[in-house]
Amino acid sequence: MAAQEPSPPSSIESNKPGFPKKILANNHEDKHLCNSCQKILRRPLQAQCGHRFCTYCFHRTVSSGPQKCNACIKEDLFEEPTSILKQGGAFPDNAARREVEALAAVCPNEGCTWTGTIKEFEANHEGHCDFMIILCPSCKELMRANEQERHNERECPERTLNCKYCKEPFLLKNIKAHDEICPKYPMICEGCAKKKIPREKYVDHIKFCNKFKAPCRFHVVGCNTSVEMEKVHDHERQCSYEHLNLLLHFIMGIKVSLESLQPQTLEVAGHKLQELHQSLQELETKMSQLGQPVQGVCGPSLTAFAPLPSAVGAALELQLQGEKSKVCELNRRLQQLELKVNTFENIVCVLNREVERSSSTMEASTRQHRLDQDKIEILNNKWMSQRTEVTSQLDFFKRV
Ligand SMILES: [Zn+2]
Ligand SMILES: [Zn+2]
Ligand SMILES: [Zn+2]
Ligand SMILES: [Zn+2]
Ligand SMILES: [Zn+2]
Ligand SMILES: [Zn+2]
Ligand SMILES: [Zn+2]
Repeated sequence: MAAQEPSPPSSIESNKPGFPKKILANNHEDKHLCNSCQKILRRPLQAQCGHRFCTYCFHRTVSSGPQKCNACIKEDLFEEPTSILKQGGAFPDNAARREVEALAAVCPNEGCTWTGTIKEFEANHEGHCDFMIILCPSCKELMRANEQERHNERECPERTLNCKYCKEPFLLKNIKAHDEICPKYPMICEGCAKKKIPREKYVDHIKFCNKFKAPCRFHVVGCNTSVEMEKVHDHERQCSYEHLNLLLHFIMGIKVSLESLQPQTLEVAGHKLQELHQSLQELETKMSQLGQPVQGVCGPSLTAFAPLPSAVGAALELQLQGEKSKVCELNRRLQQLELKVNTFENIVCVLNREVERSSSTMEASTRQHRLDQDKIEILNNKWMSQRTEVTSQLDFFKRV
C-alpha cells in the first residue's frame, strides 16, 4: 500500500485525465492512449491533425493558447496549421469513445475483485470502490476507503472526540488535559465518599459536606489536625488551650528572634511584637464577646467557648503570615549582625588577654613595691632606734 497514491476524486464529468493502464483486463493498444497523459482515453477528442486526447487533457493543453501537437512532432508529421492544437480545434470522437468504453476492465485498486467494462467502471465503481486509497485530511495518513470510518472514529491521532462529560468536542491529544479542567468531570468527595460530583459543584459540596476533612485553621501556628467539618466546633473547643498555647509559642518565638537584634531594628521589632500582642488581645476580646469567659492565654477554664468566627480566624491567619515574612526579613538582618558581633567578640577577646597580661605585671610590681616598702620601714625603724640610742648616749655624756 505504501507505493500507492490516493485515487483521483470521482466524477462523472470529463474533468479527469485518462484511466490507468492497469484497468484493462487485456493488453492495451496504442490507439486507445491519450497523446497527452499516455493513459487510456477518457471522453476522447480528435484534433485536426488526427491525434486523440482526453477531453480534460486537450482543454488543459490549449488553455494557455495554441500549442504544437507533440505527437505530430514525434511522428515527424508536423505541419502548420493542422498540427497546431487550439481551442475549438477538436471534436468528440464518439467512435473511439464507444470502442474504449467497451473494453473489459478490472478495478485497479489492490484487493478489489470488481470486473466489468470501462463504461461500467466509470458509471458505477470509480469513486465508490471500497479499496481505493484515500488520504485522511486530518493526519494525512493513506488508507483504504473501507478503513476510513474506523480510522476516523478510533485510530486517527488527529481525530476529535466529544468530552464524555461536558460533550464539547476536543482533539484527542487535548482530551487528557481537558479532563483536568472539565467543569463536568465527576469528582469523588473524600469525606462522605459521594461519587460523580461535577467539578463545578465540588467546591460547593465540600463547603457544606460534614464529613469533608480540612486542616484546622490553626495550622499556621502549628496545629496539625485535619478535622471533619461537623467536628470543627468540637476540635476548637477541646483544643482551645492548645491553640492558644501554640499562638503563645509562636509569638514567643518571634519575640526571641526580635530581642536578639540590634537596638534600631529592635525598635521596629518591638513595634511589631506590640501589634501581635494587640491582635492576640483583640482575639481574646472577640472570643469573650462570643459569650464565653476567657481568662488569659494560660487560664484553666478555656474548654467551653464557641469556635472563632472564620472571618476572625482568616484575618488572624493573614496577619500572622504577614508577621512571619517580616520576621524572616529580620532574621536575615540578624544573621548579618551576628557576623559583625562575632568579629567584635574576637577583638574584645584579644583586648581582654592584653588587659590580663598587664594586670598580672602590675600585680607583680605592686608586690615588689610592697616588699620594698617593708624594707624601707625596717630600715627606718632601725635608723629610729639607732638615733634614739645615739641621743640617749649624747644625753649621758652631757650629764657627765
Ligand atoms: Zn489524456
Ligand atoms: Zn497530432
Ligand atoms: Zn474496486
Ligand atoms: Zn487521520
Ligand atoms: Zn468536558
Ligand atoms: Zn462529601
Ligand atoms: Zn487545631
